[in-house]
Amino acid sequence: MKKHNFSAGPCILPQEVLLKASEAVIDFNNSGLSLIEISHRSKPFIEVMENASALAIELLGLEGKGYKALFLQGGASTQFLMAAYNLLETKAGYLNTGTWAAKSIKEAKLFGDVVEVASSKDANYNYIPKGFTVPSDLDYFHCTSNNTIFGTQIKEFPTSPVPMVCDMSSDIFSRTLDFSKFDLIYAGAQKNMGPAGTTLIVIKEDVLGKVTRAIPSMLDYKNFIDKDSMFNTPPVFAVYTSMLTLQWLKDLGGIAAIEKENEKKAQLMYSEIDLNPLFKGFAAKEDRSIMNATFNLVDESLKDTFDALAKEAGMNGINGHRSVGGYRASMYNALPLSSVAALVEVMSELERKA
Ligand code: PMP
Repeated sequence: MKKHNFSAGPCILPQEVLLKASEAVIDFNNSGLSLIEISHRSKPFIEVMENASALAIELLGLEGKGYKALFLQGGASTQFLMAAYNLLETKAGYLNTGTWAAKSIKEAKLFGDVVEVASSKDANYNYIPKGFTVPSDLDYFHCTSNNTIFGTQIKEFPTSPVPMVCDMSSDIFSRTLDFSKFDLIYAGAQKNMGPAGTTLIVIKEDVLGKVTRAIPSMLDYKNFIDKDSMFNTPPVFAVYTSMLTLQWLKDLGGIAAIEKENEKKAQLMYSEIDLNPLFKGFAAKEDRSIMNATFNLVDESLKDTFDALAKEAGMNGINGHRSVGGYRASMYNALPLSSVAALVEVMSELERKA
């Protein structure tokens, strides 16, 4: 039976990417060798790394603007500390919009003063704070573009008088933005880009070199910039598969094209959440994420019936995170509209039966 994969990450990837990636594990480009048994210093792999970096920069519209794309390890969680290690001299400002933002704040506090510029913790992070000013005496301002757990998304980024750092783990490559507003972007691959195991870093080189502390080699962006992400052995399979996904996205027409699809999916999902009296949305309407829709049953006693219907229809990964409860439908780039239609059908079926 066809599964509809709403998993929050790792998540659905394009079928053709999975096929090509699995072929390369057996025989990479008819070389008689597997992608994962060749040297990362070999010409074929260097080409993969160059391609992946170039595609990331091109898709984000950052060509010729002083940015470098890196593929590192340690997940987005390592970026919580690496960003602070490299950029925080005295004081940084953070927007606290959820669990991941709070974790990035915790790490940054190890390196200097942290000001919470605004927070939505008072309402279990169900909205994005607005109307705040980013102070000008900060080393940088950090925000999270999409809050995977709570299903909220920043629609309008603040004007920042200081360098802006953004955790885009769960919505990178899903919507058009002026990416040149940001000086450092990071994103774990395992949502819109590829398998877990690599993290994309997009960094404006002139933001570096401003802290006085010594930085351990493996946590120093400069070392990875100088060595084109190959300061040590890179995660070759994750980088290759990310390259395939980025190529898939480019062939589809890039971010602008996928954004239209993502909007259609989100619209279908949220209109069911709003029209079906058995469900209510978790996030404030104006801040709803087009990637992760969070919703709850109005009457919890219907849970077993709904779960059984969903299972029967092949739904995977729709349980909400424990801090929100209820349900979460993650609609990343590779999820087809037909899967959202199938989930909406299950929700309507519950309404007919209840
Ligand atoms: N930031 C966000 C917005 C996330 O959604 C996640 C993981 N889901 C992380 C950071 C942590 O990523 P990782 O597991 O790659 O460390």
